[in-house]
Amino acid sequence: MKKIALVFVLAVFVPSLVLALLAVRSLRDQQLILERQQSLLYQGVADSMAKEADNLLGRMQHEFGEQVETLLANGQAPEVARSFDERLRPTCAAAEVGFAVTLNGVLISPSPVSRPAAQLFCADFGKFLGNRESAEVYSWKTKNGANYNNSKLIVSDNAANSPAQSPVAANDLEQLTKNSNLGKGQQLRNVYPQQGAPMATDNNAQQISKVASSEAEFRELVGDETEGTIARFVENKLNVLLWHRSPHDTNLVFGAELSLQHLKENLQPVVEQLDPALCGDIAVALLDDTARPVAVSKAGFQANWKHPFVATEVGEALPHWEMAVYLLDPEKLAKSAQTLKLTLGLLIVMLLAAIGAGGWLIVTDLNRQLALARQKTDFVSNVSHELKTPLTSIRMFSELLAEGRVIEPEKRQSYLNIITAEASRLTRLINNVLDFSRMERGEKKYNFQKCDLVDLVRETVETYRPHLESNGFRVHATWPESAVMINCDRDALAQVVVNLLSNAEKYSHGQKEIAVEIGSVPEPLPHVEVRIMDCGTGVPRGCEERIFEQFYRAHDSLSSGIQGSGLGLTLARQIARAHGGDVAYRPREGGGSCFTLRLPLGAFTGSKSQAESTQ
Ligand code: ADP
Repeated sequence: MKKIALVFVLAVFVPSLVLALLAVRSLRDQQLILERQQSLLYQGVADSMAKEADNLLGRMQHEFGEQVETLLANGQAPEVARSFDERLRPTCAAAEVGFAVTLNGVLISPSPVSRPAAQLFCADFGKFLGNRESAEVYSWKTKNGANYNNSKLIVSDNAANSPAQSPVAANDLEQLTKNSNLGKGQQLRNVYPQQGAPMATDNNAQQISKVASSEAEFRELVGDETEGTIARFVENKLNVLLWHRSPHDTNLVFGAELSLQHLKENLQPVVEQLDPALCGDIAVALLDDTARPVAVSKAGFQANWKHPFVATEVGEALPHWEMAVYLLDPEKLAKSAQTLKLTLGLLIVMLLAAIGAGGWLIVTDLNRQLALARQKTDFVSNVSHELKTPLTSIRMFSELLAEGRVIEPEKRQSYLNIITAEASRLTRLINNVLDFSRMERGEKKYNFQKCDLVDLVRETVETYRPHLESNGFRVHATWPESAVMINCDRDALAQVVVNLLSNAEKYSHGQKEIAVEIGSVPEPLPHVEVRIMDCGTGVPRGCEERIFEQFYRAHDSLSSGIQGSGLGLTLARQIARAHGGDVAYRPREGGGSCFTLRLPLGAFTGSKSQAESTQ
């Protein structure tokens, strides 16, 4: 038993527990896994929209070049350059200010004394365009109309003008700035995607902007190129300059300060391109360098702009601008993770419960089988003893009689009676064992026929009475007046009665009174009861049902000295049930046992004469 239990624990229980533990551990990570899956999906959305915004700027650059060429086609280059600001603005909505500058730094247009916007432009960019000042800039240029989608170099402004030092960003970034080893021109981002986003795996990559500034003069930036973009922060405000060199006069550089208002209006449709299937789950916002929304996909949407679910920097054309994705219902993710957790948790609990219940059933069955095996061993020794005792008596008394040493007729008669009783005890035991084995194999045959139960019981009791009385028992039997006709196997029922009488004798504990009663009971279904009562100690508490199990003995042969096989009541109950009835035990009032053989009263019930007439 111990070995089997050990095998069960090692082969089933321990692996199940380990599996359950692993499953519980994976449950804890469910939310993170879901977040990662979603963040990968939404990162793709942010990336493609950021690319769209970048392309828009490239298109603007290209259109600006075409407009310059158109203006130059309609006039002399020096003439166009002198009034470039005035000529450009009516045709180019994207231009805030138009400028023309020679490669050696003479600002031809706009005039520093013209309109206020032009004055401001000259103040901010005059020295830089005149090559008298180098500034921290982000620059992108193409060679002779190369694809404007190509990558761009973006550079930041001087330290004083860096957005990292703007009032909005300063507080949040102060600590991080201290802890980071930023390279030249690098700076920290204003926007930090939530935990779970793919970038979160590399904290440094998440915090540091991918675009970096460099310090240069305008002439250096232009070099031999034909067009480009320069982004520069002046007093925390982004300024984007588009420039173009025409083949008409390569000494002249025409440019425009991009209207940010115009740019924002053009960027709005980009974020509105969001896939309708995702509109119910996310909102996309284009954030400027101070993490303020410039364009939002969903009107009226508000969020903690600095903490999107995922974000992507637009690129060098718009330094530190980001395309950010926000969850419309951040709780939804937690809820679905919770639901998933609950479902999986429940499954694990159910599996564990099933394993536990299975284990319990196996152990119970094992216990039962072991008890049965023990009982069978006891049975063999009990039966051997049961056979040996009567055989010894029979041999001893028959030898005495055979030797002719017993002369007194009473003694001889008494010995003969003992031999007869012991022989019938042997017969009873062998019958029980044979019947039991027939029943086990399902081969027990009943010969049903109508007969009078009163007659049957009376005959059996009267046959057994001499044996009981010779052992000092008094048998009180009360018989009903009328016959009780039932359909039964006469011999089988007689065997039940004998078994019950024999038990009443065996477990009498010196109280040698036995009573037999027959009575009809109308409720709940009409049936007849044969009650056999003794005045012994009764069946010990808790064993009332178990005594009907095969080989079970409440009174152990060793401790009680009472011989038995543990089959008598098993057979009695099986025979009774084959007749549609049962055998039950209840304690007798005043002490002792009362065993009741209950049989149904059906179509064959009636007087003896009626029953006979039906035969
Ligand atoms: P056995 O051969 O042991 O008598 P049974 O199947 O006839 O086998 O009875 C099963 C057990 O029920 C007995 O061992 C005994 O403990 C208990 N029992 C049966 N009849 C009586 C009774 N009249 N009084 C007390 N206990 C009884």
